[in-house]
Amino acid sequence: PRLVDPVAGEGEGAADAALRPKRLADLAGQDRVRDQLSLVLEAARRRGAPADHVLLSGPPGLGKTTLAMIIAGEMGAPLRITSGPAIQHAGDLAAILSSLAEGEVLFLDEIHRMSRAAEEMLYLAMEDFRVDVVVGKGPGATAIPLELPPFTVVGATTRSGLLPAPLRDRFGFTGHLDYYTAGDLASILARNATLLGVESDADGIREIAGRSRGTPRIANRLLRRVRDWSQVHGHHRITREAAQEALALFDVDLVGLDRLDRAVLEALCHRFDGGPVGLTTLAVAVGEEADTVETVAEPYLVREGFMVRTPRGRAATPAAWQHLGEEPPSSPAG
Ligand code: ADP
Repeated sequence: PRLVDPVAGEGEGAADAALRPKRLADLAGQDRVRDQLSLVLEAARRRGAPADHVLLSGPPGLGKTTLAMIIAGEMGAPLRITSGPAIQHAGDLAAILSSLAEGEVLFLDEIHRMSRAAEEMLYLAMEDFRVDVVVGKGPGATAIPLELPPFTVVGATTRSGLLPAPLRDRFGFTGHLDYYTAGDLASILARNATLLGVESDADGIREIAGRSRGTPRIANRLLRRVRDWSQVHGHHRITREAAQEALALFDVDLVGLDRLDRAVLEALCHRFDGGPVGLTTLAVAVGEEADTVETVAEPYLVREGFMVRTPRGRAATPAAWQHLGEEPPSSPAG
């Protein structure tokens, strides 16, 4: 698994759990979403009712699960966690819905990946707090309506545009999470270094923040490796040098590119004179599947302006050469 993968790896939940902020007030960054959510929750508390359904959209690793936990915590409500892909049949969802307690928060990760039938059941349940339980099979089957106690759905999706409008419309509040600034990541890292029981100085923290791709999950992972390095080398604190040495060892460069990202840039600039070159050709040059290059390396390279997608293929930008420490060619290819 890559150190700079924004998606959680197998078994990483436990390591992450200790570092999750528990209250809205402890959340760094995402000020707008935090303030909006704070208002929505406070109003619900004053009414003595469960909060409106909340949709959270944004890339992986930015805090959607964390926010769902905070919502439940702030409302003093139990939390149930499941995900779109885990709900294969409408019956799976009916079982969950019919066992919810009053005010319970139901977190539905990757809500856009639910089946059609489950989706329809969900928006009925969200609107009317009712679910039709089908009893029996074939022509004799009957739907028995079941009243549900009011509850709160917190849905998470990487792209709210993927949700069918009728489902999207059932959410009273949508919060869009965006990549964190280096400053916000630095506050998160400083707090988490303390939680991990290691001292840090501002330069060391800044060094890690700058390589974290705007993503707290990546920041936390890099922090743990720098902590390891510091402890093994008998240092008491995370300094800039510790961060540089540790992250060089793990092939994470100054802007957070790893070995594959740099291999793609190097192939693009050196073997294909900056492109444009087709994705498959580029992938063969770095010895990877086209799919891996497209989904793993490309998004961040494009986001950071090192690479562009053109109708004739992928092309390097002047920033790509600069990042490799070279002069961009005077007459750009293409
Ligand atoms: P998502 O559900 O969007 O993939 P998570 O909520 O699982 O992301 O967050 C990933 C990690 O990043 C968690 O360990 C969490 O503690 C940390 N994190 C996310 N957002 C914040 C934040 N605003 N402040 C501090 N830590 C955060």
